[in-house]
Amino acid sequence: MAPIPEDLCCPVCQDVYRDPVILPCNHRFCRDCVQSWWAGKHKRECPVCKRISSNKNPTVSLALKTMCEAYLLKRDRRASEDHRKKLQEALEPLKEKLKDSERVKVKFDKTADHIRVQARHTERQIKEQFKKLHQFLEEEEEARLCALREEEEQKSQRMKEEMEALSREIAALSHTVRDTEDELRAEDVSFLKNYKAAVERVQQRPLLEDPQLPSGALIDQAKHLGNLSFNIWNKMKDMVSYSPVILDPNTVHPEFILSEDLTCVRGGEKQQLPDNPERIEDSWSVLGSEGFNSGTHTWDVQVGDISNWRVGVSVQRKRNMASGFWGIELHEGYVAVSPSDESTVVVQKNPQRIRVNLDCNRGELSFSDPDTNTHIHTFTHTFTERMFPFISFLDCWVLYLLPLESFTAPLKILPLNVCVTQQHV
Ligand SMILES: [Zn+2]
Ligand SMILES: [Zn+2]
Repeated sequence: MAPIPEDLCCPVCQDVYRDPVILPCNHRFCRDCVQSWWAGKHKRECPVCKRISSNKNPTVSLALKTMCEAYLLKRDRRASEDHRKKLQEALEPLKEKLKDSERVKVKFDKTADHIRVQARHTERQIKEQFKKLHQFLEEEEEARLCALREEEEQKSQRMKEEMEALSREIAALSHTVRDTEDELRAEDVSFLKNYKAAVERVQQRPLLEDPQLPSGALIDQAKHLGNLSFNIWNKMKDMVSYSPVILDPNTVHPEFILSEDLTCVRGGEKQQLPDNPERIEDSWSVLGSEGFNSGTHTWDVQVGDISNWRVGVSVQRKRNMASGFWGIELHEGYVAVSPSDESTVVVQKNPQRIRVNLDCNRGELSFSDPDTNTHIHTFTHTFTERMFPFISFLDCWVLYLLPLESFTAPLKILPLNVCVTQQHV
């Protein structure tokens, strides 16, 4: 703070005069200062020149008072301006922070919306899958009940025919028996007269063996019930597919579109997606949902005729994915890419599929063409971080120059064949 001008400064308190008075010697002091100086003293002497003052109540100096008040007012204003400026400066970062927080809140609101959309979409997909499974089971049940009903009808019909034949046989026999017994009871003359015919009638009814149940007459329960649930489940495998790698929609670049079953990715219109930590933003890429740091993992990526891609593994890194990528790329030629090196790879025939084999324990990452069973490249590296399957369109801008078909052609993780085996427990 600026020093107080000498003519406004009380010699006792060294501050601006408050309520200044003037002594006969012409020295000035604050009223309180001079009164306290005099308190308990016999003589009222001037604190500066020691001249005795006879007047108990020194004269008020109005002019000085006005000047001091004006000075104090000005000083206060200056001080407050200075403080206002400081406070204003201190406020700026807070205002910036507030703006930032508001921006983040808008983002969070959108993320909350996205979560709701994701949940509804996922719910719909689950229901659809179950609907298919339910439908399959209902159709299977219906087919099996139908087969049972047909067998029942056919076998009942056969039984009915057997029984009708038997009834006819019984009726004919009863008839013969009754007639013959009537003959036996007849008068001798009449009996003798008809005897020959009666013998013939009895002989015409040969004593056949009792009819037997035909084999296979009963319902084949073993056929209908044996391993029923297993057989249904086994048949069900034709309608399910298994993918060794599931792509994670939460990592996908906003201009990538993922298929419903999360195995397939292609370019598309930019979507509004949350800026979550897993999201890849620096390249048209997507990561597998599961990272590997032990064991051996194999998956095939269908690249087809797409001419700009990267296939391999990467660490999960939001920005600068290239710094954590190991794999093969096709751009102007095939290149093996690692964070520290790039080398040309010679391929006899353009692969339609790339097989990736990651052996974490041996520190080997190898690429081959499964159609021709040809080795493409092997990296030997001790992967210390968890490695995620990674597929990417190399340069998004290149795709805009390509025809629509290649723009929308998908990179796809291929499913594995599902087989069911049995073994003794
Ligand atoms: Zn004073
Ligand atoms: Zn004096």
